[in-house]
Parts: sequence; structure tokens; C-alpha cells
Amino acid sequence: MSTAIVYHPDYLKHRQVEQHPECPERLSTTISHFQKTGLIDLVENITPEPAAIQDVERVHSREHINYIRCLSERGRGRFSIIDADTYVCSHTYDVALLAAGGVLAAGEAVWKGEVQNAFALIRPPGHHASYNQATGFCYFDNVSIMVKHLQENHGLKRAVIFDWDAHAPNGTMGTFYDDPSVLNMSIHQDPRSFYPGHGFIEEMGEGAGKGLTINFPVEAGAGNGDFIYFIEEFVIPRVRKFKPQIIVISAGQDSHHEDHISQLHVTDAGYAKMTKMFMELADELCGGKLVLELEGGYNLNTLPVTHQAITEQLMGTDYHGKIQGELHDSTRHLLRDLEDALKSTKIWQDAPEIDESKSVPKKSFKNRGKNSFFS
Ligand SMILES: [Zn+2]
Repeated sequence: MSTAIVYHPDYLKHRQVEQHPECPERLSTTISHFQKTGLIDLVENITPEPAAIQDVERVHSREHINYIRCLSERGRGRFSIIDADTYVCSHTYDVALLAAGGVLAAGEAVWKGEVQNAFALIRPPGHHASYNQATGFCYFDNVSIMVKHLQENHGLKRAVIFDWDAHAPNGTMGTFYDDPSVLNMSIHQDPRSFYPGHGFIEEMGEGAGKGLTINFPVEAGAGNGDFIYFIEEFVIPRVRKFKPQIIVISAGQDSHHEDHISQLHVTDAGYAKMTKMFMELADELCGGKLVLELEGGYNLNTLPVTHQAITEQLMGTDYHGKIQGELHDSTRHLLRDLEDALKSTKIWQDAPEIDESKSVPKKSFKNRGKNSFFS
């Protein structure tokens, strides 16, 4: 079966202020690159429709939706400011609905078996947008809207969302914080000194969802070795235990070593490897159903090439190139801390142990929890 790319030219209409990293060129350079290399002719191309308000309302309040619509309508060509990172132009509302619709289209095509897997190349991104708040370049949480749509309309019972963006997905985490139907995992740069100030291991869900929100906040400088270690040692055994019917990746490429918005060092080989690992996991557990949807990624020179590596991997072509980057001791310690924290949750009490041969004695970070919302 095939791989789909979801894209709409109207994604280029939403603009932030001049020099803003979340710019239309993130997508236009990617699509041009796909055309130049011929990749665009080898995938299924899906042109999405805007999400219905009913779909967005499962994740955001009616007031929030109307707020974004009013700011867009009122602007008359001028920007409205939500915060220092997040602006609204006259097209923002429509394009944000189309972004949610793009992830919906990817999710539906994969869920119905029309394609094997899909990559939704959408903007604006969504994973920071919460019930009542647009922030961090995000207006509507596209991935949450898609998962809730599949749950409501297509009988989806258990989904895994994995976020490899450099930033913690505070919006998506909030949506499913007490929801046992979604195992929501993220690896990101330590939020003690990094946006959005959420994403600590202690933020592990509540109520019936306790233990199903997983945050893995790696230190600045982490890269391929740390990301792959976390997926191999922790994510794969737990996803196996959870038995999802679909796996969704919030794919933010701002953890790339040449993306200046973070201090993380994932390479194209690393993204391709992670993609492959999740493809194999999806093959094993859920008929290969895998959806990727775009979050961050801001280096216009490297982003198209990274997207090509990810897409070719989705099509079954392995990336040729060495995966460089060692595993840092701080990451091993962090995994021990995460394991310890999860022991207090019912859900993982009989979870598989991590491989002791790859572990080192437990040691806490000196400043652990210094700025944590939970300390
Ligand atoms: Zn990000």
C-alpha cells in the first residue's frame, strides 16, 4: 500500500509578522523540493477540506474558536497579537481549520486503509494550543482534533501519540490528561529553561489517565543516541503493552541539529530511523497504521531534505547514512527517574523492566524540579 502526503496551497496564506520562523516557506520549500526530486509523483496526494467546527469543539471551547475567527475577521489586513510568538492575520482562522482538516484527512485515509501511512504537511502547527488558548505559533490542536474525530466517528478505542518536536506538547497533553484511551508520549528539550515550561516527568496524567502522559525532557545537547535509546528502551515496550489501533507522530523537526530554535541534535538519519522504528511497531501492532503530522521545524535549508528522508522512509526506502550521536549519561539517569516516577501509577506496575546492562546507577540532577510546576 501507498504513502500519502496531505497538503493544500492555502497553507501558505497564513502569515505571522516579518522574520517569524513559522513562515509559509517551511512548506513551500518542502513541496518544491518534493517536485524537484520527483517524490511528489510517487506518493498519494491528498488535498484536504477544512475541519468542521464540530470536530474542533471536541478539543477547544466555542469561545476560543470564535475568538480566533473574530481576530481574523477584524484584522482587515493587520495583525492581531495573541502573545509575543503568536499573531493572527486575516487568513489565520481559515488556514487553521484547514490544518486541522489536513490531519483529519491523513488520519481518515490511514484508518480506513486507503493508504498505509501518511504525512500531513500542514501549518499552522497545533500541539501548544489548549482548550482556551492559542500560543506558541499554534491555534487549534490538530492532532487532538484528529484523534477525537476517529474516536467519535470511526470506533477508535486506543491511540498512541508520540511527539519528537523539540518542545513539549502542552496542548495535546492537556487534552488527554485524564483520558485512558490515549498513550501520549513526548521527548523534548528540558523545559526548565525552554518553552513551554511544561513537560516534566512528574506531569504524568491524572485520574484514569494517570501514567499515560509520558514526558521525557532531555538536556540541551541530546541527539540521535538519546532519542533512539528512549524509544527502544521505554517507548516500544509500553506501546506493545498498550496495544494501540493507530500510532500518530507529532513530527516537529526543530529538534534537528541545524535548527537554531533548539539545542538538540537529531539528524536526517535519526528522523528516518525513528520513522522506521514506529513503522515496524505499527506493522506489529496495528496493521501498519501510522500518521505523521507536522509541528515545528524552522531551518528552511534543511527542513525539505529532512522531510524527504522521513517520507522516503514511510515509503519503505531506508536512509543511507550513519546515525551519529552518542547516548548521554544524563539521558540514562532521566530514564531511571521516569521509571521510578511511574511506579506510583497502577497502569505500569507490571511493565517490563529496562535493560539493566544499558543502565547506570541512579543519580538525580542537581537542579531537578527547580522550576517545575510540581515542585
Ligand atoms: Zn517545537
